Amino acid sequence: MREELLKKLRVFGLGQLQDLVTLSDILEREGASLGDVKEFLEENLRAVRKNQEEMKKAFEERRKWWKRVGRKCPECGETLDLVPIRAPKGKKNKEGYKSLWSCPGENCLYEKYSKREFKEIIEKLRRR
Ligand SMILES: [Zn+2]
Repeated sequence: MREELLKKLRVFGLGQLQDLVTLSDILEREGASLGDVKEFLEENLRAVRKNQEEMKKAFEERRKWWKRVGRKCPECGETLDLVPIRAPKGKKNKEGYKSLWSCPGENCLYEKYSKREFKEIIEKLRRR
């Protein structure tokens, strides 16, 4: 019996077992049970999952919106990606470009630099 238990405990790290002992002490002191911990855990996991689902949904909606309004690649027809350029006009950015349209297409290297701000472009597309 004891051998079996030791074999099972080896699966856990010493830190985890230490945490379990600490938790057990707390529960005993508070007159609470593992059921209370389970309840707490499930509640929090539900909240995390709900949050993840909402973020996924919002991301999906943004993606769909972008597919609809984003510029299309003149070479392959993919919806272009738009990224802001943070480097100010100077040595690293001689023309003072502020954003870059680039094609995510696998075999496409299309790129077009723009002097319009990323934010400005997005705002304009939103108003459409
Ligand atoms: Zn392309």
